[in-house]
Amino acid sequence: MATPVSRLSEALLIRVMEEHGFIEWEKVHTLGRPALRVPRTLLPEFQAAPHDVKDRIREILYRAGHFRQLANQPGAEIPWMALPMPRWPTWGLCVSCGEPSPRWRCSACALALALALELEPMDLMEEDPRLADAGDGSAAHGDAGG
Ligand SMILES: [Zn+2]
Repeated sequence: MATPVSRLSEALLIRVMEEHGFIEWEKVHTLGRPALRVPRTLLPEFQAAPHDVKDRIREILYRAGHFRQLANQPGAEIPWMALPMPRWPTWGLCVSCGEPSPRWRCSACALALALALELEPMDLMEEDPRLADAGDGSAAHGDAGG
């Protein structure tokens, strides 16, 4: 499940991108991840964010860098977009990082993947409507299906 730290860090990262921040995809050798360029308007807020929020953002950037590398590998196969881990995809665990998640891919990995593929983050972070029944069942909205 998304913790307050993960929610805060994902929200801050989304705002950075919305405010025209950007990612320098060349991995910083000493850090093993791409660098985030924060717009001047958000810099004070970003710098004042708690350490664990900034750590989580670094982790998302690490994942985004890894996914981007996978996406750019030559070949016909579409990669799983999984972080290096010796585990087969399991229901209830994120397919990318293996952390517990009610969704196919946890929100941190969904955001990292959206950044890597330069998609709108919210497209991948929406709740999967097929999982609505796993909740209280009354939250279903929109198309009731056939
Ligand atoms: Zn994940």
